Amino acid sequence: MERREAFYIGGEWVAPASERTIEIVSPWTETVVAEVPEANEADVDRAVAAARAAFDGGALDVGASQRADWLAAIAAGIRDRADEIASLITLEMGSPALFSNLGQVLPCHVTFDQFADLARGYAFEEERAGMLGKVLVRKVPVGVSAAIIAWNVPLFLASMKVGAALAAGSPVVLKPAPEAPLSLFVLAEICDAAGVPAGALNVVPAGREVGEYLVRHPGVDKVSFTGSTAAGRKVAAICGEQLKRCTLELGGKSAAIVLDDADLEAAVPLMLPNSTMNTGQACLAQTRILAPRSRYDEVVAAVTAGVEGMAVGDPSDMATVVGPLVAERQRKRVEGYLEVGREEGAVVATGGGRPAGLDHGWFVEPTVLRDVDNSMRVAREEIFGPVVVVIPYEDDDDAVRIANDSDYGLSGSVWTTDTERGVAVAERIRTGTVGVNAIGTLDFGSPFGGFKASGIGRELGPEGLEEYLEYQSIIVGA
Ligand code: NAD
Repeated sequence: MERREAFYIGGEWVAPASERTIEIVSPWTETVVAEVPEANEADVDRAVAAARAAFDGGALDVGASQRADWLAAIAAGIRDRADEIASLITLEMGSPALFSNLGQVLPCHVTFDQFADLARGYAFEEERAGMLGKVLVRKVPVGVSAAIIAWNVPLFLASMKVGAALAAGSPVVLKPAPEAPLSLFVLAEICDAAGVPAGALNVVPAGREVGEYLVRHPGVDKVSFTGSTAAGRKVAAICGEQLKRCTLELGGKSAAIVLDDADLEAAVPLMLPNSTMNTGQACLAQTRILAPRSRYDEVVAAVTAGVEGMAVGDPSDMATVVGPLVAERQRKRVEGYLEVGREEGAVVATGGGRPAGLDHGWFVEPTVLRDVDNSMRVAREEIFGPVVVVIPYEDDDDAVRIANDSDYGLSGSVWTTDTERGVAVAERIRTGTVGVNAIGTLDFGSPFGGFKASGIGRELGPEGLEEYLEYQSIIVGA
C-alpha cells in the first residue's frame, strides 16, 4: 500500500490542514492500493502563499542558466527513478506498463531537458531601436502559476507546465487530479533533491471544488489547465472575470486520414498505437479513421485485424496493449457510447463488449465501429476509451471537410505513400498538430495545443515557455 501523509509546500513536507484523504483504487485489482491527503482551501492558501513568497522574494530571479541547471537536474532525477514512477502510474490509473515507460515517463525527462536547453539559449531581454530612443524589451515571469492537470498522463502534463514555468521563473502550485497523484509526490522529491528553491513547486492534490478555489485565488496570476472541455470553459470563465492569464489544453476527437494511395501494411501498425494509446484515454488519440470509399472495406479489415491483435489484460505486463479504464464510471461512459453508436446505426466490426476471461478490472474490449457517419455522436464526442470509428469519404476535399467538421481541433494524421501530398493535406487540417506517416503527433521542441474547443495557448517549445512570460518594454529617452 502506497501512503503519503504530507503535502510538499514551501520546500517542506507539511501536515495537511484537515483529515481528508483520497483513496486510490487500482483499475486492475479494484482494491485500494494507495492513500494520499486531500488538500482543502487552507492547504491551497498555504501553497499559494509559499509560491508568492518565492516569487516576491526573488527565489527564481537567479538567471536563466541557474534555472536551466535545476531543470536538467530534475530531468536526471526522473531518469533515475523512471521505473518506479512508471509502476506508480500503472498502479493508480491502469496505464499499460509499456506506455507508462515510453509514453508517460520518458517524455517527462525529455521535456525538462528541452526546457533546460531553451532557458539557456532564450533571449529574455533584447534591445530594439525605437522612435524615442532605445527600447529594452524584457520577457519577465508571469508571477505565480496554478497548474491543474488531468489523470491520464499525470507526470507528463505536469512536466510541460512545471518545466516551462520554472524556465520562465514562475513558481507553481500544482493540483494533481485525485485519480492519479502518486507520481507528483515523486516529482516534488526530485525537485527538492535538485535544489529547486522553497516555494517554486508546491503540490496539493484535490478535487474540482478545491481546484476552482485555486483558480479564483487572488494570489494566482496565471492558470494552466489540462482537462475536459467542459471544465476548461468554467476555468476560462473565471479567468476571464478576473483577467487572469490562462492556458487551456482540452479534449479532442482527432482524425487519421488514410489517403487512397496508402500502404495499409505499413500505415496501420503505426497509426493504431496512437488511436488506442493509453487504452484510448489520450487527448490526442486519433479515434476517427477516415477511409476512402473505394478502399473502405479494406481499411476496416486492416484496422479490425490490428485491433484484434492487441493484448488485453494486466497493465503491469509489458506485453499488454490495452489495459483497464481508469474507473468504473469511465467504463460505464464508454459502454454508454457503444450503446449510442449501435442505436445510431454504427456496426461493431470487432469488440463492443467486455473481454472474456477477465473477472476483475474495468475493461472494455478494444472496439472498431464501422458504417459511421460523422454526424453520429460516436464521431463527434470524446469517448476516452479503446474505441475507433471508421468513416468513409469520397475524395481528398471530402476527407479534409470531415476531419475539420468537429468541435475539436487538437491533433490528426495523414497516411500516404506520397509525402508531399500528405503535407499538402495536413496543411488544410484545422488542428494544433498533424502527423504525416508519423506515429507521434507531438514533438518536444514544437508547440502543442488545440484549435477551437481543444484549447487556448500552447505547451512545449519557446511558445510553451512564453505562456509563462509577460512582455515589458522599457523605453529609454535620449
Ligand atoms: P476534468 O476536466 O474532469 O479534470 C481535469 C482536472 O481539472 C482535475 O484535476 C480536476 O480535479 C480539475 N477540475 C475539474 N473541474 C474543475 C474546475 N471547475 N475548476 C478547477 N479545476 C477543475 O478532466 P479529466 O476527466 O480528469 O481528464 C480527461 C480530459 O482531459 C479529456 O477531455 C482529455 O482530452 C483532456 N486532456 C487534454 C490534454 C491536452 O493536452 N489537450 C491532455 C490530457 C487530457
